[in-house]
Amino acid sequence: MQANPPVFIMILTKPLGAMSQSRFKTGDQALVRQINLAIILDQLRENAPLSRAALAEKTGLNKTTVSSLVGELIERQLVREIGLESAGVGRPSVQLTLNPEAGFVVSAELGVDYISVISTDFAPHINYKVKKTINPNQDQHEIIEQVLVLLKHTISENASAHGSLLGVAAGVPGLVDYSTGTVLFAPNLRWQNAELGKILQQEFNAPIFVDNEANMAALGEYYFGAARGYEEVLYISAGVGIGGGIIINGSVMRGKTGYAGEFGHMTMDPEGEVCGCGNRGCWETQASLRALFKYIRDNIAAGKKSSLQELLWGNLNSLSIEKVVEAARHDDKLAREAFNKIGCNLGVGIASLVNALNPELVILGGPMSLAWEFLRSSIDQELHTRALRWHQESANIVLARHGADACVMGGVAAVYNHMLARPSDRLTTVALPVYFS
Ligand SMILES: [Zn+2]
Repeated sequence: MQANPPVFIMILTKPLGAMSQSRFKTGDQALVRQINLAIILDQLRENAPLSRAALAEKTGLNKTTVSSLVGELIERQLVREIGLESAGVGRPSVQLTLNPEAGFVVSAELGVDYISVISTDFAPHINYKVKKTINPNQDQHEIIEQVLVLLKHTISENASAHGSLLGVAAGVPGLVDYSTGTVLFAPNLRWQNAELGKILQQEFNAPIFVDNEANMAALGEYYFGAARGYEEVLYISAGVGIGGGIIINGSVMRGKTGYAGEFGHMTMDPEGEVCGCGNRGCWETQASLRALFKYIRDNIAAGKKSSLQELLWGNLNSLSIEKVVEAARHDDKLAREAFNKIGCNLGVGIASLVNALNPELVILGGPMSLAWEFLRSSIDQELHTRALRWHQESANIVLARHGADACVMGGVAAVYNHMLARPSDRLTTVALPVYFS
């Protein structure tokens, strides 16, 4: 496990050139080079293709230093030359990008009733994707066993074509000790003290990252999605439960013991319904998928008509967000009313969070975001009513770019975050485990 989460790449936005090097002892020169390598990689991640001259201009490092750093990154197979491009005047210059063939990343999300796994190259492009529905009543050992099977299968599918395994990530809806990868408490999975990080480390010969799914998704949107270019971001993941991730100055805010962002368990109604965490009236009892489905069932039980009864052959226990969205698109009154209600409840909580955190950007992700077209106006309305005017003006609410893949792309971002911070750690060859099915 990564005992010390990498942070310095996300904090330093300027290279450490000759001026700042004076603050370091001679023995720190290797660290300075490491940081500058990381900055070059990060520039290429954000802005590739770039020439060496463009890198020098963007980073403020001199051309000789940039050439030396790029040479090392090419040697480590993290960067590649892709040909010449003319800038209009002068000689055409060789363009550089991250090397997609630097290796592959495997990333999993443990939903309440599904496991989703992707693999990406270093570009990162998704080159393999699998999603499996699981029985949420199984115990944690059975579910972890299925996660391992899917991860091994995905690694086997990629090992021959995509080089070395750069990292394995897993996002979980609950409290995670990021330093050990132990899932301390996941009420919607009914997990406690699951040593997922340790189990993954025993199985896979690669850096392992286990985190709360919303933290991962927030990092994924920051690296590859809707939050690119923003430094203060609030990510809300709404599904069976509600989770949150906060990006501050480009890093995930974890709080004193690492469990920040459990917004789903903010008390909204002290006398409200009992939540999976044991408390009453938590936000997720009012604004999650469970709350949406309960609203629909209660109203149908009270005599309201809905096309969902026909769509589901009368089995309202099989309600899904996709079915409710489908009904709403066909002007089903109850489905639209339910989304308005849930949108209002989401908006009330988001307005309070915006008042508390003053983010630049709010992102809504998770399965509930499939209903964005029906939720947005009621969320906006509550935000405009309840968030202080100065906060409203700065907070823009958008949809997660990676939708259902937000968490797994966040796992890829966690591996990137690690690699970008420590490019010199990368071995040119990583022994891959071989799996037989
Ligand atoms: Zn709760």
